[in-house]
Amino acid sequence: MSDAILVLNAGSSSIKFLLYAEQDGALEAVARGQIEGLHTAPRFVARDRAGNAVGEKSWGEGVNLGHEGAVAHLAEFLGGLRGDHTLAAVGHRVVHGGLEYSAPVRIDEDVLEVLARFIPLAPLHQPHNLAPIRLLLGRRPELPQVACFDTAFHSTNPDIARRFALPREFHDAGVRRYGFHGLSYEYVASVLPGHDARAGAGKTVVCHLGNGSSLCALDGGKSVASTMGFTAVEGLPMGTRCGAIDPGVLLYLMDERGMNARAIEKLLYSQSGLLGVSGISSDMRRLLASDDPRAKLAVDLFLYRIRRELGSLAAALGGLDALVFTAGIGENSAAIRAGICRDAAWLGVQADPAANEKGGPRISTPASRVAAWVVPTNEELMIARHTRRVIAMERRA
Ligand code: ADP
Repeated sequence: MSDAILVLNAGSSSIKFLLYAEQDGALEAVARGQIEGLHTAPRFVARDRAGNAVGEKSWGEGVNLGHEGAVAHLAEFLGGLRGDHTLAAVGHRVVHGGLEYSAPVRIDEDVLEVLARFIPLAPLHQPHNLAPIRLLLGRRPELPQVACFDTAFHSTNPDIARRFALPREFHDAGVRRYGFHGLSYEYVASVLPGHDARAGAGKTVVCHLGNGSSLCALDGGKSVASTMGFTAVEGLPMGTRCGAIDPGVLLYLMDERGMNARAIEKLLYSQSGLLGVSGISSDMRRLLASDDPRAKLAVDLFLYRIRRELGSLAAALGGLDALVFTAGIGENSAAIRAGICRDAAWLGVQADPAANEKGGPRISTPASRVAAWVVPTNEELMIARHTRRVIAMERRA
C-alpha cells in the first residue's frame, strides 16, 4: 500500500482534482480530472496517467449539482479507483491566507473559521475554495486536509513593496498588497536552478500568463514584488479582469453612473480585460487568430502593460538576469513571448526565434545578456508536495 494525496482546486463552477501516489519517494500523478458546469450542466471526466478516460458522467442541462454533489461524486469515484493506494491527505488550493498564514496549514474547524474571514478579500474565489474543505471536514473529520495559499509565497516581499500610501491603520488592518499565483511561482522557482543556476540565484521576472495573469520578481528564488496586489484584479489586463485602474474611475462610476460595489465588481472582474477591450473573446488563441482590429488592440494592450510592468519589476530588482514564461499563454504562445522579448530588448533580452517557435526551454540566444526560458508550471504538484510535508511533520511530532 502506498500513500496517495488528493489535490483539489475548487472554483465557482468547477472542481479540478489530481491524485498523486508516492512512488520511490516521488509523487506520481495517477489520475486527474474535473467536474465542470457545477450549477448549469455538470460534466465529469477523469483520466489515468496515460490520458485514457477512466470516468465520465454528464448530469444534463439545468442540473444544479453544486459543490456538495460534486464532492460526493468525486468521493465515490476515487473510492472505487482500483490500485493499492490509501488516501493519506487532501491538499486544497486556497487563494487567500491573509495576514495569518504565510505557509501551508493543516485545517481544522478553527483554521476554517479564520479562512472564512478572508472571503471579503477574495469574494470570487475564497468561498468556493472553502466549500469542499467544509464538506470533507463534516463527512471525513479524520482525513487530514491542508490548505495551500496563493498569497503565501509573497510573504517574503519587503514591507515597502506591500504598502499602499494609505493611512497606517488600513495597512495594520490588512489592506496591503498580498500578491497571488504564489503556488505557480513557487513551483517555477523550485525548478529554475535546474535549468539555469544564474537565473535561480539571481534577479528573475516570471511571467505567469493565463486566464489570470501576473508577473513576479524573484531575487535568489524569493518573491520580492509582484503585479497583483490586495486582490487578483490588480496589475496586468487578463482574460476578463481589467488590471491596474485609476481608483478615480471607480469613484466616477459610483457618482456618475450610479454603480454599486457588485456592479463594479462584475465590470472589473468579468467584463473587462481581453474580453472587454476586444468585445470578442477572453481567449488569447481566438484573439491571435482573428484579423479584427479590436482583437489586435486587446493583444497590443496586453503586451504594452506587460512591457511597463516588466520595467517596473526590473527596477524593483535593480537589474535583470532572466525572464521566464509560464501558464497557458506563456507556455504555448510563441507570438506573445516574441512580443514581450522584443519589448524587453532594452533590458538585454535577445530572443532566438527558432527556439521560441519550438517552445524552449531556453528561448534566448547564447549571446543574450538576459536569459529567457519557458518553464511549464505545476501548481498541483506544489500543493501535493506541501501537503505531504505538512502531514509528515505531524506524524513525526
Ligand atoms: P487558468 O488561468 O485558467 O489556469 P491557463 O493557464 O490554462 O488558464 O491559460 C488559459 C489561456 O491560455 C487562454 O487565454 C488560452 O487562450 C491561452 N492559450 C492556451 N494555449 C494557447 C496557444 N497555443 N496560444 C495562445 N494562447 C493560448
